[in-house]
Amino acid sequence: RVTRGVARRVASREDLGNGTDERLKGLIDVLSAEDWNRNSWREKPVLQQPDYPCEQDVRKVHDQLCDLPPLVFAGECRNLSEKLAKCSRGEAFWLQGGDCAESFTEFSANHIRDTYRILLQMSVVMMFGGGIPVVKVGRMAGQFAKPRTAPTETIDGVEYKSYRGDIINDSALNHEARIPDPNRLVRAYHQCASTLNLIRGFSSGGYARLDRVDQWNLDFMSKSDEGRLYMDLAARVDEAITFMEACGVGSESSVMSTTDFYVSHEALLLEYESALTREDSTTGLWYDCSAHLVWVGERTRQLDHAHMEFLRGVGNPLGIKISQKADPAELIELIQTLNPTNNPGRLAVIVRMGADNLRERLPLLLRAVRDAGQKVTWVCDPMHGNTEVMNGYKTRRYENIRAEVEAFFDVHEQEGTIPGGIHLEMTGKDVTECTGGGSSVSGEDLGDRYDTYCDPRLNAEQSLELSFYIAQRLRQ
Ligand code: PEP
Ligand code: MN
Repeated sequence: RVTRGVARRVASREDLGNGTDERLKGLIDVLSAEDWNRNSWREKPVLQQPDYPCEQDVRKVHDQLCDLPPLVFAGECRNLSEKLAKCSRGEAFWLQGGDCAESFTEFSANHIRDTYRILLQMSVVMMFGGGIPVVKVGRMAGQFAKPRTAPTETIDGVEYKSYRGDIINDSALNHEARIPDPNRLVRAYHQCASTLNLIRGFSSGGYARLDRVDQWNLDFMSKSDEGRLYMDLAARVDEAITFMEACGVGSESSVMSTTDFYVSHEALLLEYESALTREDSTTGLWYDCSAHLVWVGERTRQLDHAHMEFLRGVGNPLGIKISQKADPAELIELIQTLNPTNNPGRLAVIVRMGADNLRERLPLLLRAVRDAGQKVTWVCDPMHGNTEVMNGYKTRRYENIRAEVEAFFDVHEQEGTIPGGIHLEMTGKDVTECTGGGSSVSGEDLGDRYDTYCDPRLNAEQSLELSFYIAQRLRQ
């Protein structure tokens, strides 16, 4: 078996075997499982996969993807793991955000820049206001496939196959468009490659220089309270930079002129994920090279199913989404399966249940995980437990989102545990998809700029507003 070979090779590496690299030693045990390989998920029950009309076409595309270069490198994934471990201990804070679903049409340099920029701005607010390093992780360059409640949807009395994301089918309302087409995987791959290319350019090519913090403003924000608050804070960051330069820390130093930015998505479409899973030449371990971090969604995390099988074998840091339906014993088992060696940089538990459920359920989960001695990073997704329909639009109220974040911090404070990060559906654009917040999008405004391909996102102002709140909680 492939993995047996890997285990032998890795175990024979002296530096890994004698405890000099704890990080990798932990991984070896997880990944040397004899019964895992990048296709072993195919033997398990699998949910939420498209019903492609022609198996042969799928195999052709799979083989084609297997020959294409990886999008990320194993070493980068390990760096992110180290940062995730810091978040689990409260030494850094995790900021993960982006579209609910990326799309082929909403793809442009400006769209990528706007999401990147708002994440940078939020991270500066949280770093400067909260006094803690922020780990920036986009829901970008791969966040295409969507789990759906039902295989079909009825619109104006006509039943269509559900739209599952641009990597699978087209959202247009005709039967032809809704037929899953495997060639979309290749198109998505190339879009991810260009997206990542631009992100890498922004991160190292000068765009993210801290002394440009006051130039990252989005035009429409200068009129809003959040925009003004941000510009205020940017002026203070500027002063701090001038001070640091006077002390001899030049703005040319790499801390000031470049930034680390990672990408992540839900590992839902296993045909895509497994094709991009590659053996790392330095360690012999297998990494899902479609993203630095991948997560398993609330709807596909059954212990004996394909998604858990696939994820347990890859070396990437992982996420797992948890709703109020998860009971403590189940969570312990899920964590044990994905992180049997208790590596603190391995797993983010992303809680999404609404403020009220969270106040009731999260303490039980926190206690169970603590009593089991499991090390994880607790992340709050205040989006997916707060979706509702208003005037015919799927939306979320800023107030409910903020209430869930507040509950998340409160419960951790009460239990003496660490709030490690936040996971948001958001965009740098001035959309009207979520109501409320300082920008005061009302139920009537929802139709104005409702651009999302799936769930409603916070707009730039709402995202900034939330980051000011989080900064305040981090400082306490
Ligand atoms: C999502 O993150 O878009 C999603 C589908 O989340 P969940 O698995 O938590 O429902
Ligand atoms: Mn979503």
